[in-house]
Amino acid sequence: MSVAAESPSPSLSSLSDEDDFADFLDAELELISAADSASRGAPPGSPSDDEDEEEEDVVVDLDAVGKGSNKRRRVEEHRQDQGTATRPEEDVIAGSVKDAQIKKCPPHPGFFGGLCINCGKSQDEEDVPGVAFGYIHKGLRLGTSEMDRLRESEVKNLLRERKLVLILDLDHTLINSTRLHDISAAEMDLGIQTAASKNADDPERSLFTLQGMHMLTKLRPFVRKFLEEASNMFDMYIYTMGDKAYAIEIAKLLDPGNVYFDSKVISNSDCTQRHQKGLDVVLGDDKVAVIIDDTEHVWQKHKENLILMERYHYFAASCRQFGFSDQSLSELMQDERESDGALATILDVLKRIHTIFFDSGVETALSSRDVRQVIKRVRQEVLQGCKLVFSRVFPSDCRSQDQIMWKMAEQLGAVCCSEVDPSVTHVVAVHAGTEKARWAAGNKKFLLHPRWIEACNYRWHRQPEEDFPVPGLKEDKGKEKVAEDVTCH
Ligand SMILES: [Mg+2]
Ligand SMILES: [Zn+2]
Repeated sequence: MSVAAESPSPSLSSLSDEDDFADFLDAELELISAADSASRGAPPGSPSDDEDEEEEDVVVDLDAVGKGSNKRRRVEEHRQDQGTATRPEEDVIAGSVKDAQIKKCPPHPGFFGGLCINCGKSQDEEDVPGVAFGYIHKGLRLGTSEMDRLRESEVKNLLRERKLVLILDLDHTLINSTRLHDISAAEMDLGIQTAASKNADDPERSLFTLQGMHMLTKLRPFVRKFLEEASNMFDMYIYTMGDKAYAIEIAKLLDPGNVYFDSKVISNSDCTQRHQKGLDVVLGDDKVAVIIDDTEHVWQKHKENLILMERYHYFAASCRQFGFSDQSLSELMQDERESDGALATILDVLKRIHTIFFDSGVETALSSRDVRQVIKRVRQEVLQGCKLVFSRVFPSDCRSQDQIMWKMAEQLGAVCCSEVDPSVTHVVAVHAGTEKARWAAGNKKFLLHPRWIEACNYRWHRQPEEDFPVPGLKEDKGKEKVAEDVTCH
């Protein structure tokens, strides 16, 4: 198999029990994939004098499933005609099936094309286990224990390559899309539709018409560089609540050479829970997965893996949908900056996470490291050394400690408290007239708006305090006395 041929690892020649299934699945999928592409019409005119090289470019969706490298794997149609360097598929499958038959069913390890991959029983007659991996291959379903085994071997391979897993949301994270009939009058006047269909050959262009979908899509500035650099550190998945056809179209825009994602494009039909995204359909462990998404609530179970993105709104309809009445970037003919926009910022964070994961903590075995701990640690560096007091920011009938801003500040490494003392560094307020706000002014402490905390959270960096003034600072100074609310903690 190409896996065996590609991999330099000597352990592959003596497959452990755990490897049997992965091997079997590799073989199965490659065969079927090859058959699929043959029936679609395999690329004609392949050079026949170079058969021991990968010449057919039939891409198989094995990155997520398999073992061996996580480079794209290819199937050579004429492999069976070759020498001993690669084994004929039939032998491999026969061998694996023979080995697999030693295990008992049920529980069935998984189903492929409606049949148990171990005993061959039909899925319809049995309790169907586990999770469907339709994005890897239609009709693939894996039971829990086999999933765990595949995950384990996949993670082992990734770590050997100094890679983690990166899950990327599409809308408002890497791109912004709008329906054609939602284009605003101003956008229309600026000729946005014409612009989207121009310069089709320009590799740098970022505005596209999605043919057949009546949509325009704008790539977020810096996204190409982001993917290129992130791909050196991560095995990447797209994970969107959009539908499959849309996800695949966008994947083509982001990854025209199909070098980053291959089949690892997960869409709404793959989710196992309504309105929730889960790592259960990703063949990487929670311990190595970093998620980049602008929507927090869909990752209920995986908040520790999540890096929350500042939303990218380019089109007017997108702004309106989220309640912004200002002109959109498209209407202003502006955009996020490449150099210090959201994706450049997050790329730096990813680099730091990657470095800490692999290069610090040498005393801990790779396999027992947890990227969630690293994310936590990097997040806590942001407001390290800051001591915050909140002044009338929260409703008085609730516990301050339970409020989002309080928790966010703590996650960023700040110490939060309810009363002022000399060690306090920042007073957070929405109005400058409060007693604590006055105290801040009198004691040369920072007085700032809670938006500062949010900005620090998105930017992963302590933001300049002076950019977040509290309204009423000048005009109300000394005039208005607002009683300090001390019941709110
Ligand atoms: Mg999104
Ligand atoms: Zn079975």
